[in-house]
Amino acid sequence: MVDLTLTELRDKLQAGDVSSVAATETMLARIADHDGEIQSYVTVTAEEALAQAAEADRRLAAGEKGALLGVPVGIKDLLCNKGVPTQAGSKILEGFRPPYDAFVVQQLKEAGAVILGMTNTDEFGMGSSTEFSAYQTSKNPWNVEHVPGGSSGGSAAAVAANMAYGTLGTDTGGSVRLPASYCGVVGVRPTYGRVSRWGAIAYASSLDQVGTFGRTVQDAAAMLGVVAGYDERDSTSIKTPVPDYEAALTGDIKGLRVGVPKEYFVQDGMDEDVATSVRAAIAKLEALGAEIVEISIPHSQYALSIYYLIATAEASSNLGRYDGVRYGPRVTGKDVIDSTRRTRGLFGPEAKNRIMLGTFVLSAGYYDAYYGRALKARTLLINDFKEAFKHVDVIAAPTCPSTAFRFGERMNDPIQMYLTDIYTVSLNLSASCGLSVPCGFDRDGLPIGLQLMGNTLQEETLLNAAYAYEQATEWHHKNAMPAGS
Ligand code: GLN
Repeated sequence: MVDLTLTELRDKLQAGDVSSVAATETMLARIADHDGEIQSYVTVTAEEALAQAAEADRRLAAGEKGALLGVPVGIKDLLCNKGVPTQAGSKILEGFRPPYDAFVVQQLKEAGAVILGMTNTDEFGMGSSTEFSAYQTSKNPWNVEHVPGGSSGGSAAAVAANMAYGTLGTDTGGSVRLPASYCGVVGVRPTYGRVSRWGAIAYASSLDQVGTFGRTVQDAAAMLGVVAGYDERDSTSIKTPVPDYEAALTGDIKGLRVGVPKEYFVQDGMDEDVATSVRAAIAKLEALGAEIVEISIPHSQYALSIYYLIATAEASSNLGRYDGVRYGPRVTGKDVIDSTRRTRGLFGPEAKNRIMLGTFVLSAGYYDAYYGRALKARTLLINDFKEAFKHVDVIAAPTCPSTAFRFGERMNDPIQMYLTDIYTVSLNLSASCGLSVPCGFDRDGLPIGLQLMGNTLQEETLLNAAYAYEQATEWHHKNAMPAGS
């Protein structure tokens, strides 16, 4: 049962060939055997999972069907799970048990999914490797000396190591696509507003969006179909019906116009193996009947600067709520000011960096020079994408210029860490959707990801393009840690 994909397991559950309790026990045993090394889960909720599985088995026995009914999944430690420690990778939320479920967690529970536990993340989603988690560092299942990517590194590693059939992450600047690429799994970042952010712990509110991980495109699509949707508690969530994403996977991409932005292939520091694999993937799309069009996203050279100005500004505002009064632990000092100050000492180094940068760019003297200009430049980038999508249906590029790096390699140089996100942040700044799908391995056996981007709310076209590519290649049959390993 370990090596089944999510949709294969679901079919077996519905046919009555296996039970959800058995699938859940299998995953819990996998976690017990392997997560000591991989460290993908921060909290495992075995008891709750087995109770949810027993309930799912009752629903299945009554003839109920559902995209995730009885399927064991994991969720990022940033998504409020009622009564379960939800700590955002931060000591400032240590032991915080939310009194409610995030919208996406509600959706999972109603659908009858089994939640195995909370997966590791960089503190508040700030990072690209999970090295900024205050609790543990997750390992890449393909090579444990390398990072799994971040910030949803625990979610990606859990799927790659077959310790969940699917997982949820969040993607503010690439945190679903990057770890998916590094771990050789599929990661989907839907359009901003497609999924309600209610109960997703905020990092940068104009960029945050919940995304899904699966071993295959269909698995990630099945997860998305369950968690997507309008919710009046998130004023930015979009009120349009959720399509049947799995039904959109026809594998037919004849005539699909695929844009290749020249700016995404000239970057210094691009690995040769990444460039070769991504170019081969684009040729494959062409062989499948797609039309390849060279395009330009002229302002993409500014994307990283725009992103790190806007994301830090929003983060400094969002993190202001952690004062020891409303959430999590409190360190008591001699008065209110002192208590707040001491409590905020619980923030880790990267969260502090971001708070200081964000406060600086929003301060009276610098607002116009930095934050104001970043907003204007963001509009130019949005316009670039709008223009591009007049001519193409999807855009193809690398997810990241390199494959998974070694632990410690980028910790002492924030710019190096930030550069990891160079190809992912533009999508968050514009209003498009995107994903990463495995497209090969480098000479050291580390996975490479092809990034596909789609126009606003065009998830069906996006997923189908990825599906066509996936079905025509063998990468999704490769398994980092198959059963018995
Ligand atoms: N690595 C990026 C950052 O640190 C993106 C994080 C994310 O998408 N949550 O901001």
